[in-house]
Amino acid sequence: MKITTRFSPSPTGFLHIGGVRTALYSWLFARKYGGSFILRIEDTDIQRIKKDSVTDILFGLKYLGLSWDKGPIYQSDRLKIYQDIILFMLKKKIAYKCYCSQKRLEKLRKKQILNKKKPKYDKKCRNALFIFKKSNIPYVIRFKNPDKGFVTFKDMVRGNIRFSNEELDDLILQRSNGTPTYNFCVVVDDWKMNITHVIRGDDHINNTPRQINLLNALGAEIPMYAHASMILDPSRKKLSKRNNVMSLKSYIEEGFVPEAILNYIVRLGWSYKDKEIFSREEMISLFNLKSISKSPSILNYKKLLWLNHYYFNHLSLKEKYKYFSTYIKDKKIILDSKSDIRGLIKDFLCHYNTLKEFSISYSYFYEDINLSKVDNMHFYCSAMNVKILKFLHQNFSLLNVWNTKNILEEIQKSVLYFKIFFQDVAILLRIGISGKKNTPNISSIILYIGKDKLLFRINNFIEYIKYYLNK
Ligand code: GLU
Repeated sequence: MKITTRFSPSPTGFLHIGGVRTALYSWLFARKYGGSFILRIEDTDIQRIKKDSVTDILFGLKYLGLSWDKGPIYQSDRLKIYQDIILFMLKKKIAYKCYCSQKRLEKLRKKQILNKKKPKYDKKCRNALFIFKKSNIPYVIRFKNPDKGFVTFKDMVRGNIRFSNEELDDLILQRSNGTPTYNFCVVVDDWKMNITHVIRGDDHINNTPRQINLLNALGAEIPMYAHASMILDPSRKKLSKRNNVMSLKSYIEEGFVPEAILNYIVRLGWSYKDKEIFSREEMISLFNLKSISKSPSILNYKKLLWLNHYYFNHLSLKEKYKYFSTYIKDKKIILDSKSDIRGLIKDFLCHYNTLKEFSISYSYFYEDINLSKVDNMHFYCSAMNVKILKFLHQNFSLLNVWNTKNILEEIQKSVLYFKIFFQDVAILLRIGISGKKNTPNISSIILYIGKDKLLFRINNFIEYIKYYLNK
């Protein structure tokens, strides 16, 4: 049997953490067994579709490296397939047209609630097709759910689950506007795409018996099901799609690398001994459905920060540079070749938790600085400082071998020449280069910012002071 899993999001919003976890578990399971992972976009409910949602889903999966073997398959491209199966079901009398008006259904619902009964369609049209011959009355198509007995299935996470058929409604397969419904399309696709394992969130547990009844009626193979428990926010509230905290996009914008995000998400409801760090390969080889937790998992932002920090310390320089340059590019910033960003990353990224923090701290490497924003700038605007800066400019421009030793020597020369402290020169250089009074050690900053940018910024600083003194 070839293992086939699928990730089948409805494009009704941004890809969220719960969705990523479903995709990841399904992807891991397929990869572990050399199976196939299908990406299917469930877009038949036109009213709920959100513009840009598919783009966001595809972008997110690509960012995380969750590659699919088939797809994206759009359900909206498969309407003919669903239509044919519905016609077949009507012919076989396992489905029927229901002409009940919204008004009637609403009245029925209210009455049932009042009588403390579970709201459910009363099957009025199930055996009364002959009453409605006129074709201009709107109708939906319903499935004849078995009246009696039970649906049982073995959930790979929760064990045996049983539902009484009396509890289940005659499911709508086709809306009155002619579009097929979620539960119906899922069944047709899981069947036609030979899905062997349906791995998804436990918000779908109630759909499973309905889908199994449909699969049985169609004579289809029943896949295995695994429902992962829900994810809660830190205050133990159920996450909602509206809650921004859980969109993958927001994590990408904060500058979390794929390794950290995947590592964080795999542990939201799955564990292997007390291991916390998993490489992609380890995730694939160690993942199993049995170890998915039955109890809810709770988001822990600090842990995500910790993991990102861990990967900043363990990824190769090449990978870190790749992530950083992509991150910056998405912010419409182009890195020029004048500065040595690789060197900067090599020495300093390890102190940070996110690419965003890092990019803000070192924005002066790739963005213009604003000297007028420096606190107490007037304090540094003296004729003496112009002299010091000119001296530094002159000496640095003659420096050929650009390394920290030589850079320090140049600073030292100005200290001796002007009989001032090292810190006095360092702070001038810091302000001139970065527009800040605090930076990591000045020789590294000069080394990485490069000669061209250094000379340019010293010149700017000189001009700024002159302008200030002449005001
Ligand atoms: N399209 C459904 C959703 O986005 C998932 C369907 C399924 O996994 O069966 O919630």
